[in-house]
Amino acid sequence: MKEYTTIKLRLHPTAEQAALMEKTFGCCRWLWNRMLADVEEFYAASDLQYIPTPAHYKKEAPFLREVDSQPLCCVHQNLRQAFLNFFRNPGAFQYPRFKAKKDRRDTFTVYCRQYRTGPSIRLLKSGIEMPKLGLIPAAVHRRPLHWWQLKSVTVTKSRTGKYFCAIVFGYEAPEREAVPPLPERTLGLNYSPARFYVDSRGVSPVLPDLAKSREKLARLQSGLSRMEPGSRNYENQLRKIRIQHERVANQRKDFIHKESRRIANAWDAVCVRDTDLVELSRRLKGAGVMDAGFGMFRDCLKYKLERQGKAYIVVDQYAPAAKTCHACGRVNEQLSARERSWTCPSCGVVLTREVNTARNLREFGLKEIGALSAVSYPPAAAGRDAGEGPGAAGSADLTGKALCL
Ligand SMILES: [Zn+2]
Repeated sequence: MKEYTTIKLRLHPTAEQAALMEKTFGCCRWLWNRMLADVEEFYAASDLQYIPTPAHYKKEAPFLREVDSQPLCCVHQNLRQAFLNFFRNPGAFQYPRFKAKKDRRDTFTVYCRQYRTGPSIRLLKSGIEMPKLGLIPAAVHRRPLHWWQLKSVTVTKSRTGKYFCAIVFGYEAPEREAVPPLPERTLGLNYSPARFYVDSRGVSPVLPDLAKSREKLARLQSGLSRMEPGSRNYENQLRKIRIQHERVANQRKDFIHKESRRIANAWDAVCVRDTDLVELSRRLKGAGVMDAGFGMFRDCLKYKLERQGKAYIVVDQYAPAAKTCHACGRVNEQLSARERSWTCPSCGVVLTREVNTARNLREFGLKEIGALSAVSYPPAAAGRDAGEGPGAAGSADLTGKALCL
């Protein structure tokens, strides 16, 4: 099986290289818009979908010849893929849109080709060598392993004016021995808006202190509201705000990568609920401290576990993890979403909502993959519950479609 991994580098191009990159960004955007317009025109005239190739435009737009042809081919492929996605699944994908310069999503992709003289893109110690651009100086903080194959490079410019490149490498996935998920080496994680997550032992991570950065951001933003739009002060302030936004985003990313690495190394399996985070944040009205981060955290955790042969177990989002007592298995249907702690009517254990949910996620996850034959409730307690009608004694009703927090 092929596996892919990416190394992201900060580029420090010379003035000429930066100018050529800017030109390439511009050509890609121009070509995308022209192709999209022509597709629509052609469709209106003939009822057929047809995307002209980049070569078709080179006569009328000689500036396209000044940049590498590979990114232009990529634009063609991307537009084709955008249409395919839209026609196959119009609910999930939008119709391709025109790109405006002010959107500043400056990016282009170059695929690596193999020539007789060697590959067209090479990652060296001092930077990356690309067609037409030459050797772009970069901070190469990580070296690829010698069997990795360089597949493509995507150059982007951030809104703060920094150039980055994401280099994709492909390789045959090595044979990994699957780590059997033992119950004592398995962790349940429950998303918590205030504490990011609560695990099945009741432990929460130490969150990065974003308060200072956010305070500064608020101060800058209130300053902006007093300035004349379009003035030099306004533009300066806007630049400062973008830098601060980038800083907060970097702090968050740093935390997510370190935290997911720590868990993936310390545990053999992790059970997480398959929550729709967009839906959740709408219900919570964006009350989370690390709102955007948990989805990315789950993704990081998944690949970091899987690359070690460990299990990332997804629990159904409608499983009654919050309403089930982890001590005896009774499902408390009366529990409202607001109650942060409750006493189990069957066994009398006082339960903290978030910890109880995390423990249940761990049990449900283990049960799902067959590591536990049944949810392991103490037999005495389960026996006591047995006569109390449906929903008791661990018969977790997975069809009850009520989102449990
Ligand atoms: Zn109980």
